[in-house]
Order: sequence, then C-alpha cells, then structure tokens
Amino acid sequence: MKFKVPRGTQDILPSETSKWQKVERIIQEVCDVYRYKEIRTPMFEQTELFQRTVGDTTDIVQKEMYTFTDKGNRSMTLRPEGTAAVVRSFVEHKMFGYPEQPIKLFYIGPMFRYERQQAGRYRQFVQFGVEAIGSNDPAIDAEVIALAMDVYRRAGLKQLKLVINSLGDTECRNAHKEALIAHFNPQIDEFCSDCKARLEKNPLRILDCKVDSEHPLIASAPSLADYLNEASTAYFKAVTSYLDDAGIAYEVDANLVRGLDYYNHTAFEIMSTADGFGAITTLCGGGRYNGLAEEIGGPSAPGIGFAMSIERLLLAMEAEGKAFEEDPGLDVYVVTLGEDAKRVGVKLLGDLRTAGIRADMDYTDRKMKGQMKSADRLQARTVVVLGEDEVAENVAMLRNMSDRSQEKVPMADLIERIQEQVK
Ligand code: ATP
Ligand code: MG
Repeated sequence: MKFKVPRGTQDILPSETSKWQKVERIIQEVCDVYRYKEIRTPMFEQTELFQRTVGDTTDIVQKEMYTFTDKGNRSMTLRPEGTAAVVRSFVEHKMFGYPEQPIKLFYIGPMFRYERQQAGRYRQFVQFGVEAIGSNDPAIDAEVIALAMDVYRRAGLKQLKLVINSLGDTECRNAHKEALIAHFNPQIDEFCSDCKARLEKNPLRILDCKVDSEHPLIASAPSLADYLNEASTAYFKAVTSYLDDAGIAYEVDANLVRGLDYYNHTAFEIMSTADGFGAITTLCGGGRYNGLAEEIGGPSAPGIGFAMSIERLLLAMEAEGKAFEEDPGLDVYVVTLGEDAKRVGVKLLGDLRTAGIRADMDYTDRKMKGQMKSADRLQARTVVVLGEDEVAENVAMLRNMSDRSQEKVPMADLIERIQEQVK
C-alpha cells in the first residue's frame, strides 16, 4: 500500500520551510510595530459558529466545510477561516471590558476548505489575518489596510493592486437588497440553483456567482454605490482620505462584494498584477463587520480585519521573481579521525553549540574525505580537524574554508578563535 499526501494539501519540505519562517517573521515584526497581538484559537469549533457568522448561503458553509460529528454527538467543523473564532473568543473572554480599546489581534494558522484544487487553492492552507475590534474610527480601517500592504512590501512585492468599496450600513444594504430582488426576480429562472436560493436571503451574492457571471442582468444590476446614505458615504470618504494621506494607492470598485455575510462599510481586496501569477489574483480580502459580535451573543462591538494566505503570498513572490536571501551555511563542521578524537569532537560540538555557534559533525562513520565533502555541502565556514596527533597535543587544526588557510589552535583557545572567524 502506498500513501500519499491528501488531495489539496501539501508537505512543506525542509528546503521550503525557511521561506515560510521568513514570511512568519515579517508578519510578527509588522504586527509588533502596529501593536497587534497574536491570538491562538482551536483548529475546530462548533459548526453553528460558522453557519451563523460566515452565513448559510455562502460557498464556504454550503460546500466547503470539513464537518464531523464527534463522539459526543456534537457537530464540529475544522475552521474554514479565522474571524469567527477570534470574535467568539473576544466575546467569551469579555475583551470588550479591557481598559485599552480597540482590541488588536492577529492570527496565523491552517484553515480548511473542501475546494477543487488548483494553483493557489488548497484544502488546507495557512492564513494570516488581523482583527481590530471595538472601534468605529475610519482611521483604523486605513491602519488595517496599511498593515496588509506593509507585509507584502516587506516580502518584496511591488505589483499590487488595492481595490476598495463600501457596502454601506444596514439601512443602505437593505434598500439595495430590495432593488436587487426586484431586478433579478423577473428572470431568476435563467440563473443557477444557488442563485435562485440566494435571491430572497442574500441577492448581493448573485453578483459574486462564479456560474452566472456573464448573465447581462449582472452587469446592469443596481449598484450599491447608488444606495449609500450620507453617513456611509462620509465614512467611506474618511477611509479613502486616510489612505491618500498614507500614500497608499487604491481603486474604488463598486462591484467588489466580499463573500461573507458579516461585512458592512469598508470592503477591500489586494491583488497581484504580476504576469504569470495565474487565474486567481486575489492575495488578501478584508472588511468591516460591525454586527458580528452581537450576532454571536456579545455586545455591539464594531470590527475590521483581513485574511491572506501565505501560499498565495509565496506564489506572488515567485511571479515577481522575488526570493529571500539564501540561508547562511554552518559555522563549524567538526571532522574527527579515530575513536579518541571522536570523543573529544563530540564534547567540543556540545561546547560550540552552548556558545551559540552553529555546528555539526558526521554520524555515519565516514572517512576524512567524506567528512570534508559534508563540510562543503553544508557550506561550513570553518572546519575543525581532530586526529590522534591533535588529541595527544591537546590542539585542533582550524581551517578557514573561504581561503583554505589552516592553523593549529590550543583546545583552550578554540572557541574564541572560531567566534572571531565566523562573526
Ligand atoms: P476566493 O474567491 O479565491 O475563493 P475567498 O473569498 O474564498 O477567495 P477569503 O475567504 O476572503 O477568500 O480568504 C482570504 C484569503 O485567503 C484569500 O484572499 C486568499 O489569499 C486566501 N485563500 C482563500 N481560500 C484559499 C485556498 N483554498 N487556498 C489558499 N488560499 C486561500
Ligand atoms: Mg473561496
């Protein structure tokens, strides 16, 4: 029997993990600068949490969730996204009562969606997201967008497009909803079964449908922009002014409607415009969700956030030809000849590591030549050679691999000499 990685998932091999770690480091640094603190929630939650927040009519809830019944007969779901759990935790731990508001959080971890696999679309993928909960200040909408842009910029990406729109408040959304129902109702028979089901509950989602996107009624549908009331227009204006001040370029797209149920006011996406990025160009999606905390039984607490997958960030780097610097080689490789030297070598290796020097040695009983080959392969900057003579004299041969120079160093001075050479 042969086993394979499950469809839609991937092994991230040791040759790849350093890229991931570097992205994670950028994320941590950027979040630290903006004072967003990490939160870690479970990998699964009650199914109902996602039904309530993401929404019954979304693709995520209808088609993509990994739902199972546990041994206690509870319906649980592997998290398909991060916001629901973060807001659940915010409510459960009464973070709305913390003296310092808003609460600014970030998360990074695997999400699960049963999707059709293609480039940039996996069944398990890693999302980084932030949530700022407890503020209705348009300046924080701009802050959240700036944070996302900073992460991409620090990863070296330049070919980015920020698209932004306002979904308005509940009042405008309801007025627009009525107009959409009136618009689609006469010809709804020409649409897919999903759209038929969406018509009454959430007609906005018809505009987002992947099956019916070419239907003429989509292009002629009433635009949300025409239904924004004064307060919503002013809010949106404030957000875009802050972006202008920050020098962040954006495009307003009245057709941008985000998939999830809980959004209102600001919605945005960041795309890659790099050639060869492929069909899926969205790197990051986010928006404001002022009713979400209440929806899951908490007090009213306006929030805004975004999510991006690391997989798509790395694909965008590849498309733009950006790569991280190569990892430096080993500091020291310890070569030993004979049993006595091996014992001295093992002890030395421990001392080197304790001193914070990146060191390794052979564990496959190879001869001198084989050990030197390893030192080269591992790009060791120095090699310590210990043979019988050296052990007898209580010295070591220290070779500098860049100029191949060699010197005999007393064991007592060895670590200090190595530190000088590798620093
Ligand atoms: P799409 O329209 O591509 O399906 P979405 O609207 O489902 O995206 P969101 O739920 O907004 O995506 O998730 C935010 C981000 O997470 C996306 O912009 C993308 O970077 C990433 N993402 C979503 N689904 C996947 C996936 N299956 N594999 C990899 N990354 C994903
Ligand atoms: Mg999707």
